[in-house]
Amino acid sequence: MSFNVYNTMTRNKDEFVPYKAGKVGMYTCGPTVYNYAHIGNLRTYIFEDVLKKSLEYSNYKVKHVMNITDVGHLQSDGDEGQDKMALGASREHKTVWEIAKFYEDAFFEDCNKLNIKRPTIVCKATDHIPDMINLIKKLEEKGYTYVSNGNVYFEIDKFEDYAKLANISMDELEAGSRIEIDPNKKNPLDFVLWFTNSKFSNQIMQWESPWGRGFPGWHLECSAMSIKYIGEYLDIHCGGIDHIAIHHTNEVAQSEGVLGHKWVKYWMHGEFLVLDSGKMSKSSGDFLTISRLEEEGYSPLDYRYFCLQSKYRKQLVFSFESLNDARSGYKKLKERIAIVLKSKNESDVIRADKIETYKEKFSAYISDDLNIANAFTVLFDVLKDTELNSTEKSILIEDFDKILSLDLMTIEKADINIDEELINSLIIERAEARESKNWARADEIRNEFIAMNIELLDTKDGTTWKAK
Ligand code: AMP
Ligand code: ZN
Repeated sequence: MSFNVYNTMTRNKDEFVPYKAGKVGMYTCGPTVYNYAHIGNLRTYIFEDVLKKSLEYSNYKVKHVMNITDVGHLQSDGDEGQDKMALGASREHKTVWEIAKFYEDAFFEDCNKLNIKRPTIVCKATDHIPDMINLIKKLEEKGYTYVSNGNVYFEIDKFEDYAKLANISMDELEAGSRIEIDPNKKNPLDFVLWFTNSKFSNQIMQWESPWGRGFPGWHLECSAMSIKYIGEYLDIHCGGIDHIAIHHTNEVAQSEGVLGHKWVKYWMHGEFLVLDSGKMSKSSGDFLTISRLEEEGYSPLDYRYFCLQSKYRKQLVFSFESLNDARSGYKKLKERIAIVLKSKNESDVIRADKIETYKEKFSAYISDDLNIANAFTVLFDVLKDTELNSTEKSILIEDFDKILSLDLMTIEKADINIDEELINSLIIERAEARESKNWARADEIRNEFIAMNIELLDTKDGTTWKAK
C-alpha cells in the first residue's frame, strides 16, 4: 500500500518514496522558547506527531529532528521587530538563558500531556553556533552573501527560483511579507545570516565570528542542524503554514545554496488553529495554553481528540463549545472501550484474518495524507461489529492507538458508566422480575442494557453478558 502526502512544493498529493528505502529523515521546526506554547502551536505538533507515528505504523524507521529556537528570532519572521528571547527576559526579569530553560521544559511538559512523542534528536540553536558559522562561510565561498553595515545578508537574487516553495511571484511574496525598507539590503527580501550590527546593541547572546561579534539570523539554525543530524538529503520537512513564505523559503535558499542540489523531498504544512474571535498570537501574550484548558476542566487529551477530528490541512476554529463536543465524544468513546476491555474473555478465539482486514482499512486512511477523521470511522466500525469478540476488538483498539495516542487502553473509573457489580445486580433483578411476572420492570431493565450497549445472553446455566 502506498503512503501519500500533500507536498507544498509540488501542490500535489504525492506518493511518499524516501531517499533511502525504509528510512525517513524528518525535520520539524520547533518552538521559540520565550513563552508557553499556545494551543495553536500545539495543533501543529500534534499533526507532526500523527505523521511520524503513521510512518512508523507503515513500517518506516523515522529519525525525527526538532530544533529549539533560543536566539535570533525577531518579532516578525523577517528581520524586523524586537528579539523574542530578549522580550521574554525583560518581561519576566530573568536572563535569556533562564527564560529558554523554563519554556523549553514547559513545552515538553505540554507535549507529554498530549502524548506527543519526543523527537529522536532535540537540538538548541545556541549549541550550534559553529555549525551556523560554517554554513555562512560556505555560502560566502559560493557567492550568495554580502556584508552591509556589519551584517551578513543572503542575496536572494543569486538563488534561482527563490519563490518556488511559496509558489507565487516575487511581487506577491514581497507584498505578502510587508517588509520594512531596510537600506542595508539590496533586495527587500534578502535576509540576515549574521548580525553584528543590529539595533540591539545590548544583545546578551553574542559569539565571535569571522564577520565580528554577533548572533545568527533565525532561518540559519534549521538548515545547519537538519544537515548536521539528517544529512544532505531530507525526506520530510514540516511546520505551520505561516512558515512557507519566509522561514522555509529562506531555508531552501540557504540549504540548496550550500549543497548545490535539491534538499527536501516533501514539504508538509499544518493549517492554523484560529479563535472564533480571530488569530491567536504568542507575542501578544493573549493566548490559550494547555494549562488554561486544564484549569477550565478539560484534559489535554480532550484537546488532542478535538484536533484529530479535523484534517490537518484545514483551518480549525477553536471555541469552548466545540471543545465541549469533543470532550463528550471522547468520553463516550472511552466508555464504550472500557466495556469492551472489561468483557474480554480468555476463551475468545483470535481470528487473524478479521483483524488484518480492519488494520488494512485503517492503514488505507492514514496513508491517504493522514485522513484521521476517516480512520476514526474504522475504530467505530470495530466497536459496532457484533461478529468480533472483545479480545479481537481490544487488539485493534490498541493497534490504532499507536497513532491516535488517546490512552484508549487505559480504563479509568470515569470511563465506565456502569460497573460489573451493577450489571450483575441488574441481571439478578431482571430474573426476579421475570419470575414474578413483572414484565414491565423486566423490559425496562432490558432497555437499560440496550442503552449501555450490553447484550444479554440467556443460556441454560443462567444469564451472561457481553459488550456489543
Ligand atoms: P513558534 O514557536 O512561534 O516558532 O511556532 C511553533 C510552531 O507553531 C510553528 O510550526 C508554527 O508554524 C506553528 N504555529 C504558529 N501559530 C499557529 C497556529 N495558530 N495554529 C497552528 N500552528 C501554529
Ligand atoms: Zn525552521
